This record gives sequence, structure tokens and C-alpha cells, in this order.
Amino acid sequence: MKEIKTKLLVIGAGPGGYICAIRAGQLGIDTVVIEAGKPGGTCLNVGCIPSKALIHAADEFDKVAHLSGENALGISTTKPTIDLTQTMEWKDGIVSRLNFGVAGLLKKHGVKTVEGWAKFRDGKTVEVTTPTGPQIIRAEYVVIATGSKPVELPFLPFGDKVISSTEALSLTEVPKKLAVVGGGYIGLELGIVYAKLGAEVTVVEAAKSILPQYDKDLVRPVVKRLNDLGIKVMTNAKAKGLSTKGNSLLVENGGGADHKIPADKILVTVGRKPVTEGWGLEEIDLRMDGAFIHINDKCETSMRRTYAIGDVTGEPMLAHRAMAQGEMVAEIIAGEKRAWDKVCIPAVCFTDPEIVTAGLSPAEAKELGHDIKTDLFPFQANGRAMSAEREEGFVRIVARADNHLVLGIQAVGAGVSEMSAGFAFALEMGARLEDIAGTIHAHPTQSEAFQEAALKTLGHALHI
Ligand code: FAD
Repeated sequence: MKEIKTKLLVIGAGPGGYICAIRAGQLGIDTVVIEAGKPGGTCLNVGCIPSKALIHAADEFDKVAHLSGENALGISTTKPTIDLTQTMEWKDGIVSRLNFGVAGLLKKHGVKTVEGWAKFRDGKTVEVTTPTGPQIIRAEYVVIATGSKPVELPFLPFGDKVISSTEALSLTEVPKKLAVVGGGYIGLELGIVYAKLGAEVTVVEAAKSILPQYDKDLVRPVVKRLNDLGIKVMTNAKAKGLSTKGNSLLVENGGGADHKIPADKILVTVGRKPVTEGWGLEEIDLRMDGAFIHINDKCETSMRRTYAIGDVTGEPMLAHRAMAQGEMVAEIIAGEKRAWDKVCIPAVCFTDPEIVTAGLSPAEAKELGHDIKTDLFPFQANGRAMSAEREEGFVRIVARADNHLVLGIQAVGAGVSEMSAGFAFALEMGARLEDIAGTIHAHPTQSEAFQEAALKTLGHALHI
């Protein structure tokens, strides 16, 4: 059997694994990365990128559809149609270009990529089932970056009718009726896509609100937009299975009453779980935190010279967290002194409108015992948002009452995802309200709402 020896072995080439391998390569570490699927992992192949491509396509379609009716802009056009097969080919083209890009970057930095499924034989040896036969790889250091996969409900097993986000990103026809089980960010992003493309969408959520991790003020503009798009939302509602004929979703709502929701496709997005099976976790017997691999502030597991990064290590399951961990671990292995001390990991929910959170919400800050000052600036008073016909939403700042240190920033509105970097930067740099208020923000931009939110929290907003 073919055998390779390397200094660093990375299992999984998702955002965590490929960034770790690239950085290790840059630092001159002899590195092998093993990937069973395509480079880029969930994020690039069946997550962040394809979902954002479809969101873009659906937005363009919706814009034209909106313009083909009565509109104040004086533009007229004919009703749009969509060839979803062609849309998916366009989306696949973007994914392929990026697959090629990641593979190229790994190569450029001297990383060897092995295609196949890795399984531990012992703590520093794995056997890989490659297309050309089994291969043994021995390493001094191992990074586990095996990611996560969709949670399947036992009473709604995935198949042709019941699908996960993966299949929802590759449908070739817009379902007439789509039921979405789970009103979290993945279900809503995809539900909105299909509603804009013409599907009749019903979202079933067990909690008392969709996007239950956010406060009411942030969720309200999204709820309104779902309503405008004709998306039905059932909260306090539990999916129970398929009807006998298999053409409807059975839902128990509140007082135990059953509902039948006719559906051509049922998209189940009730969460994601770490990939901890099938690669020999039992062989190496790592300490766990519930379903996730336990790590410390250096991403070290309970086994010497074995690290874990990304979704397999817990929440927040986000690509940029995985990447930051991957980069840090490569530098630690290269001998640099690094530890995880991030002030915030911004999170974006790419619904319509989008939601951004960075740092603490007002409730979280109070729970931690902070005496706070908080206020928001609405996009209704922002000229750029008005000129884009997107006046919903706001930017909100949470700061300490005594010294005005900014503790958290939240926003909801069209395109606010692009403001997330400024929010994270302010928090990482330890900005005070006066720093944001005193930074000249270009006019007319939506980001002026950030400056105005700081001014308003200080008690002297200029445009409201
Ligand atoms: P993954 O990306 O899951 O990669 C793990 C890789 O390891 C996989 O390619 C897998 O094939 C490989 N692997 C696993 N086990 C083995 C083995 N034994 N041998 C060989 N290879 C193996 N996050 C964001 O930050 N922003 C978003 O907008 C966003 N949108 C999303 C939309 C959807 C629909 C989904 C599903 C997810 C989205 N995410 C988003 C989450 C994001 O995709 C994940 O947080 C991210 O991919 C985690 O990276 P990772 O490296 O930990 O694991």
C-alpha cells in the first residue's frame, strides 16, 4: 500500500481545512490535505456560495417582475420567465471556477491534495480510500476539519420529495408548492429564493418566532417582507410527517390541531450536525463537548498535536470562523504564539432584508451586567436607502453607559451584509461611540446610518 509521510495532515478541504493548508504551505510546512468531495467543502459547493448565487438570481427576477407591474419609477417591462436549469448551470459555473481557484491556491503553496475518504488507524496515521486504491498517510500534526451536514428528521427522511439545502440548491424546476421545515437562516434564505421565483412557500417553525436567535426588532422587517412576498409562516408549529398519500406535510399547530400543507417539495432545514462518524473518531477517543469535538483556545483537542477547527468544533457554524481558526492553527504549528481572542465573529443572515449582528445585543449586554446606552437609526431617514426604494430596517449600537465603549452592533436592511466588516472592525479596535460618530462616512451611503446610530446614542443625531 502506498505510504506518505508529512509534517501536517489536514482532513477536509472546506474553508477551515483549505485555509489551514494554504497558510501552512506559506509558512513552509510540508502539508497534505485530504478531501472526499470537491475543494471548498460545504461552503463553496453546497452552502454559502451557491445559496448567494441563487439569492442574486431570485432578486434579479423579482426586480424585473416588480417593474413589470405598476411602479413609481416610470420603467415598464414585460413579465419575466425563468429557465431554472440555465440558472443552475450559471451557479455551477461559479462554483467550478472557485473549486479550480482553491485547488490552484493549494498547489501554488506546495500543499499536496489527496482525493478520498480518510479514516484514522491511530492518532497520527490515516488510511485514505482514494480512486486508485488505499493509501497510508503518517503525520506529526493532524488538523480535523470534517465540517457538518444537514440534520435529517426520522419521520421525514430525505428522498425525492423531502430535501435538504443541498438538493434545494440544484432543483431544475421551481416547485409549485414548497414547505420549509425550520425557520432559521438557511430555510428562510432558500424559501425566499423560491418564493421570488414563483413558488407558493409555507415556513413551519417550532419556536414562537422565525429566526429565534434574534430579537423582535431585527426580525420584524423580515417578517413583513415574507408577508409581502406571500410566504406563509406558521410558528409554534411542529412538522410530524407526510400525509398518507404523501402529497402534504402534516403539521401540529399550537393547541394540538393538525394541518395538512400541500407540498411538491418539503425542504427540511432544522439545523446541521458535526461530521464525527465514519472517520475513526472512536479510534482516537477525543474528548467531546456534546456532539462536537472539544477544543481549547488554540484549537487543540485532547490529543497531543491534534487540532480541530470549523463546524466540527461547535457554534457559530460559519465559514469565516472556520477560516480564522484554520489560519491560527497553521501559525501555531509553525511555532507562532497565537490564541483565539476574537472580540466578535460577525454573523449575517442573507434573508430579504439582511440581518447583521456583531458583538452583544442589548439583552446580552444587560445579562452580562453592563449598564448600557443603546439606540438605533432607521434607514427611513437615510437618503441612499430611500433612493434604492429600500427604507426598511435600521442600524443599532450597544455601548457601555460609562465610557461609551461599543459592545455590539446590529443592523437589518437591504444589503447590510456589506456593512458587517465595519462593525467587526469597530469592535476589534475597541471603538467608542465618539470614534464612530467622528469618522467621516461618505455621502450618500447606507453606512451613514452607522455614524448616525452612534450620534443618536450620544443624543445628537443630525438627520432625525
Ligand atoms: P465544511 O465546509 O463542511 O468542509 C468539510 C469538508 O471535509 C467537506 O468537504 C467534506 O467532504 C470533508 N470531509 C469530511 N470528512 C472527511 C473525511 N473523513 N475524509 C476526507 N474528507 C472529509 N456560512 C457563512 O459563514 N456564511 C454563509 O452565508 C453561509 N451560508 C450557508 C448556506 C448553506 C445552505 C449552508 C448549508 C451552510 C452555509 N454556511 C454559511 C455555513 C458554512 O458552509 C460552514 O460553516 C462552513 O462550510 C464550515 O467549514 P468547515 O471547513 O468547518 O467544514
